[in-house]
Amino acid sequence: MPLCGVIFDLDGTLVDSGLDFDAIRADLDFAPKQLILETVDRLPAGAEKDRCHAVLRKHELRGAQRATLMPGVAGFLEALAERSIRTGILTRNSRESTDITLHRLQLELHPVLTRDDVPAKPDPAGLLSICKDWACGPSEAIYVGDYLFDIQAGQNANMRTVLYAPASLPEYAHLADHTLRSFHDATQLLDQLV
Ligand SMILES: [Mg+2]
Repeated sequence: MPLCGVIFDLDGTLVDSGLDFDAIRADLDFAPKQLILETVDRLPAGAEKDRCHAVLRKHELRGAQRATLMPGVAGFLEALAERSIRTGILTRNSRESTDITLHRLQLELHPVLTRDDVPAKPDPAGLLSICKDWACGPSEAIYVGDYLFDIQAGQNANMRTVLYAPASLPEYAHLADHTLRSFHDATQLLDQLV
């Protein structure tokens, strides 16, 4: 299958921004495992919703300021550029924090879509929009992410999925088409995909 482009998740995949979702939930007074964005979205307009947005923004801006590239990412992006394979980003993070992270780390991928641009993953709208921008079909692209929503979004878009799992394999790892333990091995995986 020809490969037109690779779409990446941002936090926990391209970069380590140290976002601690359990700490965010605690600050929001949410239950463990409660969906963060979806719960905030459902709150009626008012002081509590504003407080939640402020808490989320504080955590995300802090993450953007400390984010570092995951090991091997720079080399993999270079290898993709050498092969004229396009690269884009779909993230559940905000436009504000995403732009800070990308600017700080001098990452240039296009397009970059955030939750302020398209419905959040696992909705496939962002992945499909990027493919449309590239004028390629979903089957010609792959999505690389580190969480269940990434794999579900890819499946919902009929796109091949790669789960980035540097620490340990989660119980949903079997849902992904491929797993990647280190970006140092990503170019090798690419050779299997094209
Ligand atoms: Mg992630």
